[in-house]
Amino acid sequence: MAYLTLKDTSLKKYNSLALEVIATRLYLPLDTQGLLDVLELTKDKRRVLIGKGCNILLSKENYDDSTAFIVTIMDDELILNDTELIADAGVNLSRLAWFSLEQSLKGYAFLEDIPGTVGGALIMNAGQYEFSFGQLVNWIELYDTVSNQVKKIIPDKDYFGYRTSKISSTDVVIRCGLKAEKGNDEETLTAILKYKKDRYLKQPRQYPNAGSVFKRPYKDGQSYYVWKLFDEVGLRGYSIGGAEVSDKHPGFIVNLGHALPQDMIDLVKECQDRVKKHFDIDLELEWKVID
Ligand SMILES: Cc1cc2nc3c(=O)[nH]c(=O)nc-3n(C[C@H](O)[C@H](O)[C@H](O)COP(=O)(O)OP(=O)(O)OC[C@H]3O[C@@H](n4cnc5c(N)ncnc54)[C@H](O)[C@@H]3O)c2cc1C
Repeated sequence: MAYLTLKDTSLKKYNSLALEVIATRLYLPLDTQGLLDVLELTKDKRRVLIGKGCNILLSKENYDDSTAFIVTIMDDELILNDTELIADAGVNLSRLAWFSLEQSLKGYAFLEDIPGTVGGALIMNAGQYEFSFGQLVNWIELYDTVSNQVKKIIPDKDYFGYRTSKISSTDVVIRCGLKAEKGNDEETLTAILKYKKDRYLKQPRQYPNAGSVFKRPYKDGQSYYVWKLFDEVGLRGYSIGGAEVSDKHPGFIVNLGHALPQDMIDLVKECQDRVKKHFDIDLELEWKVID
C-alpha cells in the first residue's frame, strides 16, 4: 500500500499558519500510485488536497470523517528528460529551483523562496513580480474526481491569471511537464540569493504565516498596496486573540503562537471591513479557506 493513513491527527505541521486543528482522516500518499489509490478510496468523501499548506486557512478546530485530508509532500518524483522537467504534485518549490540550477536551466530562481509544492503552485499560479509558475508549464496531468479519470491538459494563454488558474476545484493535480531551457548558472544563483535576502529582510519569518493574505486590489484602474491601506486605517500590529496583522509587514497575518482558526477569521473580516469603510475597496483573499 503506497500511502499512510492517520486518524484523529493534528494538522499543525501541515499548515504554515501552524493552527492546532484536528483531522479525523489524513492520508499521506508515498508516490503517484499511492495518490491515485487514496483518491479511489475516498470517492465518497469531501477531499481536501494539501501540499505544504502555505496558502490555506483551516477555519474549523475539528474536521469529522466526512472530510479526507490528502497531503502530497511525499509524492515528489522530479526528473529531467531530453526535453522537459517532469514534477509530481508534491515536489517542493525550493527543491525545484535548486534542481534547475544543478541542471543549468533558466526560469526557476523566483520559486526558491516561495514555500510550497508544485500542486499548490499550479492551483495558485504562485509567483512574484513578473514571474509566475504558469509560464513554466507545458502540460498538467489531473485526476478528475467527477469522472474518476486521469486527463492531460495543455494550458492555453488564458489558463493562468493573477494568483489563479483554471484548474477546477474538482480536479487533483497529479504531475506536470515543465520547460527546460538552458540558462546561466551564475545569473540563476545570483537571482536566488537576491530573492532570499530581500524577502527575509522584509517578511515576518519569525512567526507562522501563510504569505500575503489578500490579493492586490484594483479600483478605477488603479492598483493599491494592501500594506499601505492597512497603515492608513491603523491595522499594522492590530491583533485579535493570537492572530496579528504583522508589525513588520502588514500584508501578512501571523500566528503569535496561540491563534485559533476563529481569531484568523475575525481578523480577516476586520481588515476587509475597515478597508471597505474607508476606501470603498473590496479585499479578495489570496488564502484558500477550508470550511
Ligand atoms: C512566507 C511565505 C511567503 C510566500 N510568498 C509567496 C509569493 O511570493 N508568491 C506566491 O504566489 N505565494 C506565496 N506564498 C503562498 C504559498 O507559498 C503559495 O501559494 C504556494 O504555491 C502554496 O503551495 P502549497 O503546496 O503550500 O499549497 P497549499 O497551501 O497546500 O494549497 C493551496 C491550494 O492548492 C490546493 N492544492 C494543493 N495541492 C493540490 C493538488 N495536488 N491538487 C489539487 N489541489 C491542490 C489546496 O487544496 C489549496 O486550495 C507564501 C507563503 C508563505 C508562508
